[in-house]
Amino acid sequence: MTSPHRYRISAYDPAAHLFEVQLRVASPDPEGQVFAMPAWIPGSYMIRDYARNVVSIRAESDGLDVPLTKLDKSRWLAAPVRKSLTLIAEIFAYDLSVRGAHLDNTHAYFNGPCVFFAVRGQEDLGCELEIVPPDHADAADWRLATSMRRMEGPQYGFGAFEADDYAELIDHPVEAGNLSIGEFEVQGIPHAIAIRGKTHVDMGRLCHDLETLCERHMSLLGVPRGFDRYVFLVYAAGNGYGGLEHRWSSSLVCTRDNLPTRGDDTVGDAYRTFLGLASHEYFHSWNVKRMKPAVFTPYDLSVEIHTGLLWVFEGITSYYDDLALVRSGLITEKSYLELLGRTISRVLRGSGRLKQSVEASSFDAWTKFYKQDANAPNAIVSYYAKGALIALALDLKLRHETLGRVSLDDVMKACWQRWGETGVGMPEDGFEAVAAEVSGLDLDDFFQASVRGTGELPLDALLQTHGIQYHVRASSGSSDKGGQKLENSKQRGVWLGATLTESNGKSTFTSVVNGGPAELAGIAPGDEAVALDGLLLTSANADKRLKAYRVGDELDLVVFRGDELVSTRIRLTSAPLDTCYLELVEDVELAVESRRMAWLHG
Ligand SMILES: [Zn+2]
Repeated sequence: MTSPHRYRISAYDPAAHLFEVQLRVASPDPEGQVFAMPAWIPGSYMIRDYARNVVSIRAESDGLDVPLTKLDKSRWLAAPVRKSLTLIAEIFAYDLSVRGAHLDNTHAYFNGPCVFFAVRGQEDLGCELEIVPPDHADAADWRLATSMRRMEGPQYGFGAFEADDYAELIDHPVEAGNLSIGEFEVQGIPHAIAIRGKTHVDMGRLCHDLETLCERHMSLLGVPRGFDRYVFLVYAAGNGYGGLEHRWSSSLVCTRDNLPTRGDDTVGDAYRTFLGLASHEYFHSWNVKRMKPAVFTPYDLSVEIHTGLLWVFEGITSYYDDLALVRSGLITEKSYLELLGRTISRVLRGSGRLKQSVEASSFDAWTKFYKQDANAPNAIVSYYAKGALIALALDLKLRHETLGRVSLDDVMKACWQRWGETGVGMPEDGFEAVAAEVSGLDLDDFFQASVRGTGELPLDALLQTHGIQYHVRASSGSSDKGGQKLENSKQRGVWLGATLTESNGKSTFTSVVNGGPAELAGIAPGDEAVALDGLLLTSANADKRLKAYRVGDELDLVVFRGDELVSTRIRLTSAPLDTCYLELVEDVELAVESRRMAWLHG
């Protein structure tokens, strides 16, 4: 036990959702030691002020209390001491998200930024961590999963762990509870998946499929230095979706039904969703966890750090997450094109794409993408979805214009060699420069229009060069995610130009499209739907009700705004062609066929 920083976290009061965290600093700053809690967690670009969950805090040295002064929302100053200094805090943990910490009688989960104080000025020193189980009978069977290097204790048991420095300490989320654990190897490297939540998962199949998928990713950019283990921590919930990437692990939340069950060997929509999520977070092991924007090296976790490059790190990752599924043979070409059609539809459905560039969306992620309000579809574009489409367009453009010599894979390999393997951050203009350098093409206009501009991407023409036919149609209603061909009769003829959402038995207009019929009728976000044309209007019946009308029909629309009844007239217009589906063109020339094969199968 010689680490300069010895942390101890105890799940000491699960009923009150309180962890106790101790931190012993061997050689505190003789001028007085400053401790800090992160304001945000890498990968999730929002100020969360984790220090707000500190319920109590004190310090001691040599058996005596040491005065602590709060310096600001996240920092404390301990008075100077001659010997080692120990900080002791109670931390409330009841945030069941991949960015949080959560403790109850069924499990203990935490991310380091939520529970561990940084020792200012000594962040580069080594850390030890002891994890102590709660003192109740139910916890006797708990197992513990984390990618942190183990010093003591049985595999998947409580015990002691170590990290090279504070940045690594907080990059290993920990899950303890009743876990289903599967193991597999990728290029000789041990991988594990630990699932919490009641499931009937077919673990053998899941491990086999993840191995295939991870192998595919590994073959693109190679094994990162020091990548000697990997753990997927999964919470299978009744309903949920999300993930957060780390260097040696990821935390995923999925809907229980997204996991494969015994006796089912198909890849339906649900399981494909899970595989896509796992694929996304695993690709981040390269793209954003090791290769990252220069402004993130190192992370300053006390304030917002702005970069215009999130479209590279999230958008390109979103492109490769689905592409890896078809390239590894887990899904068919048709299934992949459906996913691509859905991504295109998501972008087409927000007019924000015509107002905000992905560079601006990246830069303002902290206050816009992460703080979306009712006007978001009119004002912002997703650097995930449009970023993925820029990656697609760039990939197809490179393949086409270099006659198959260069693809996005080559650009990513060159970026990885320059900024991933070296750990030097990518400058803001780095990706574009490397893309031009590797391909020998002048890509200025392309990046100007697609990354800094708000023009439409030439996906129709680019897909055509790869034997894919691009179609747009009207949506069939609120459950239509796009990606599939539909009969004309199933498509929507007219629309309201607003989203109706049901909550607590009320149907509310949650967003209103700029210039659409609802906005022109004076409908505002938050209005509760009452009646259309004299009959009940709900989110559940809206699509069906609208089938009865034609373009140009003017109807009475009644809503509640607050507790006041508002009556208005709405003039229905034709539903926009905002839903995309893609088809493989049969009988294409051999050159097109081989280009398509190279793209979809690597
Ligand atoms: Zn991501």
